[in-house]
Amino acid sequence: MYDSVASFMDDIVNKNPGEKEFHQAVFEVVDSLWEFLQDHPHYMYAKILERIVEPERVIMFRVPWRNDRGEIEINKGYRVEFNSALGPYKGGLRFHPSVNLSILKFLGFEQVFKNSLTTLPMGGGKGGSNFDPKGKSDNEVMSFCQSFMTELQRHIGPKTDVPAGDIGVGGREIGFLFGQYKRIRNEFSGVLTGKGLNWGGSLIRPEATGYGAVYFTQEMLKTKNESLEGKTVLISGSGNVAQYATEKVIDLGGKPVTLSDSSGAIYDPDGIDRGKLAFVMELKNVKRGRIKEYAKKYGVEYFDGERPWNIPCDVALPCATQNEINEDEAKTLVKNGCKCVVEGANMPSDPKAINVFLENKILFGPGKAANAGGVAVSGLEMSQNSMRISWSREEVDEKLHVIMRNIHESCVVHGKEGKFINYLKGANIAGFIKVADAMLDQGVV
Ligand code: NDP
Repeated sequence: MYDSVASFMDDIVNKNPGEKEFHQAVFEVVDSLWEFLQDHPHYMYAKILERIVEPERVIMFRVPWRNDRGEIEINKGYRVEFNSALGPYKGGLRFHPSVNLSILKFLGFEQVFKNSLTTLPMGGGKGGSNFDPKGKSDNEVMSFCQSFMTELQRHIGPKTDVPAGDIGVGGREIGFLFGQYKRIRNEFSGVLTGKGLNWGGSLIRPEATGYGAVYFTQEMLKTKNESLEGKTVLISGSGNVAQYATEKVIDLGGKPVTLSDSSGAIYDPDGIDRGKLAFVMELKNVKRGRIKEYAKKYGVEYFDGERPWNIPCDVALPCATQNEINEDEAKTLVKNGCKCVVEGANMPSDPKAINVFLENKILFGPGKAANAGGVAVSGLEMSQNSMRISWSREEVDEKLHVIMRNIHESCVVHGKEGKFINYLKGANIAGFIKVADAMLDQGVV
């Protein structure tokens, strides 16, 4: 048995060499669980911590495909099936050149706790490839997706493992992946979520992560008798999560003033309104262009190669990628008056940035709680597929809203420290208990 977080982490680092994102994700969880585990030693005796950090299965494979010039390209494919104590493995696929085993293990590990928080019957997993869809034709993306699924299909299924989208995997990619699965397996089933509306998808799934993160923000602000009305909001990213977070902030009377992509950030002091957001959606989802175009179109500032965190705001919603807020940026946010940081992305704040938020006792909503709306509606998509029905937009949105309120409540119950709510601790403890208890019930597996 380990006598400290440091000794546990030494072992993690030795057993998983070079996987720095995975080490970071494990540290964040174990550090905030440690006190709770000392008070509940039965989890330690059953070695739940040692078991929960080890994926049940890791699948790695070759993805050969042909580009438009007729040349053969080879990418790496992965699926990390992390934990199935609560249900079939569930979690997205990421297509991005930075993808490696460490990143997918960090995401799969986070997913286990996130899915537990939703209270829906879903285990945790994550997968993807170092394939870069940027600059590829639709035909190339299809060729790649077909090759990727040719291997992945033998490992997944509606009762086993149900992938969804993530960075670089949106409606277009899910369509190509689903088509190939159906062709090889000769079955039309709910094996992927985020599907098109007329072939098994759920209403509100595209909106769910962004909307859910903003519903979570609303609940956090309520604890201070505040709302989003009139608040200046920084948003990073300009993909799926960022777009729908922007939409919901506008709906609730807030003023989003920034967006970004991996090339830079725009700052629109007048606020991004519905018309401007429609432009961004067309730019990113159809033309697949760069956010710089926004600055040209609306005559606002563009910061090449920068992130938006040095602009004064009330609320910050990082919605792009991991480690996009460092310690200095966190200090700048707090100094400039930011009172609430809510993670639409997975692990966007690095550990030192999180310390800055916690030490300054501002509202900090960790990704595994705040962005759980996406997987929650994926869970609802699975239910609708199994029952062969579809719920209306209002029904799904209401269920999403209730789930986000309940996740917030669980964080409050387990994260209260006097008058301060430590949402990180709350989310980790609440997520852990359900998975750990299910693992105890199911024996040494
Ligand atoms: P998209 O691919 O739709 O958008 C990603 C956005 O982030 C793009 O604007 C992209 O810019 C930017 N980005 C990606 N990598 C980097 C980087 N290294 N540096 C700076 N910017 C970057 O993905 P999503 O919106 O779906 O995902 C965003 C985040 O939300 C991820 O962390 C994801 O894991 C998380 N998430 C997503 C869920 C979902 O349902 N989609 C569910 C829960 C969490 P560019 O166009 O230049 O690549």
